[in-house]
Amino acid sequence: MSRVFPAYTYGQGPREHCYWPATATPPHFPAAEGAITCDVAVIGAGFTGLSAALHLAEAGSDVVVLEAQDLGWGASGRNGGFCCLGGSAASDSMLAKLYGEPARRDFRTAEHRAVDLTAGLIERFAIGCDTHSRGETLLAHTRKAMNAFDAKARLIERDYGVTATITPQQDLAAKGMNGPFFGAITTPIGFALNPLKYVIGLAGAAGQAGVRIFTGSPVQRIDRQGAYTLTTPRATVTAKRLIVATNGYSSDDLPGWLRGRYLPTQSNVIVTRPLTEAELAAQGWTTHQMAYDDRFLLHYFRLMPNRQMLFGMRGGLFSSAAADARMYQVVRQQFEDMFPAWARVETPYSWQGLLSISRDLTPFAGPIPGMPGAFAALSYHGNGVAMGTYAGALLADLVQDRVPRNLYPKIMQTPPRRFPLGRFRRAALWPVYAMAMVTGG
Ligand SMILES: Cc1cc2nc3c(=O)[nH]c(=O)nc-3n(C[C@H](O)[C@H](O)[C@H](O)COP(=O)(O)OP(=O)(O)OC[C@H]3O[C@@H](n4cnc5c(N)ncnc54)[C@H](O)[C@@H]3O)c2cc1C
Repeated sequence: MSRVFPAYTYGQGPREHCYWPATATPPHFPAAEGAITCDVAVIGAGFTGLSAALHLAEAGSDVVVLEAQDLGWGASGRNGGFCCLGGSAASDSMLAKLYGEPARRDFRTAEHRAVDLTAGLIERFAIGCDTHSRGETLLAHTRKAMNAFDAKARLIERDYGVTATITPQQDLAAKGMNGPFFGAITTPIGFALNPLKYVIGLAGAAGQAGVRIFTGSPVQRIDRQGAYTLTTPRATVTAKRLIVATNGYSSDDLPGWLRGRYLPTQSNVIVTRPLTEAELAAQGWTTHQMAYDDRFLLHYFRLMPNRQMLFGMRGGLFSSAAADARMYQVVRQQFEDMFPAWARVETPYSWQGLLSISRDLTPFAGPIPGMPGAFAALSYHGNGVAMGTYAGALLADLVQDRVPRNLYPKIMQTPPRRFPLGRFRRAALWPVYAMAMVTGG
């Protein structure tokens, strides 16, 4: 496999101290063995692949999921658990300029529907995944950002048809959101969840619908002679159709079309031990609202139902045990800066993972050009809980040659362009990250 990061990134190191496996154990699935045939083979057992598999099996397809490691091993089983709007990192003006205003609006509607689809699956399959938070709160880290919230509220009303609530700085403490913030705006869409429990629930639903899931089964080759033949260490899987759902953990050669079309990017999370009531009161952060700030390398944080605080931050160019240790110090320092009353609170859990961004900062779900019968969905720009689930559902319809039941925005139909610099393309992030660190943004 030709990959962008060193081998360390794709091993156990970055997730060794992940919190979620302490809360749930994925069921055991066997490795694929021998000659297997199916209608549709899905590569990758994260939100995208499992949602596609579930929706396909419900429609009557015989589906096989092949996962290199364990269920939800990629970003899906180690993210922050914000089920929220998002999926693109492009601004409104950029989206409108590149695709037109109707397409931009469609995309915003799809973001909202992605959250609804995810909530609907959780309810339909009674997935216990520790949900909390009513919508999502953005905290201003500058006065300028706070001053822009009135305009932002109008855009939220226009694009999502909901009314956002603005909390001025002086009212934050009363709402249990004390911190170095200039105000907040809450959009009443979305909720938080335990991502590993959600993955396990999706897999359970898919299994009930007849999907065969194989773990420890990395696809090493993709061949096509009429049907697709996927080679794993111990199996040959022949499928009429193929879905590639590997996102940030993709390889540049599986299939070759992916080469240069995704940029794996790191995100980092720490989780505290349970905080006492006194500790929560001392900091004045008592809300269970999921929150993030408006920095470029944004912080995302939420007090989970069991009073453990999760705190995440994007960033990190290098990947190794030493780089992870350095990144832990950076994240930990920023946590202490934001919540000084917790400077002595232990954070026994810390981990890293890969999300994917695309050159045009938009997600893709659709047919792979030049590979008849093959489809891919990727690049949700760090917001793939809802959007990955949604993209999987879109792929399920496309694979069956059906017009998608869910809104299929033009923006998501446009195949990603290649980044320059080939395998070294993550170097392009260096000046962007350096500038963000220098400006505190
Ligand atoms: C630390 C972190 C925090 C995040 N926080 C949030 C958040 O709070 N909210 C949010 O919405 N999003 C968040 N994201 C992003 C979100 O997790 C991802 O967008 C989403 O999980 C992508 O799902 P996926 O199924 O497409 O890919 P993944 O979950 O990454 O799954 C891809 C899978 O493909 C497998 N694979 C790769 N190659 C092969 C192969 N050759 N053969 C077989 N299997 C293969 C991998 O092992 C992996 O399990 C976060 C991401 C990270 C890393």
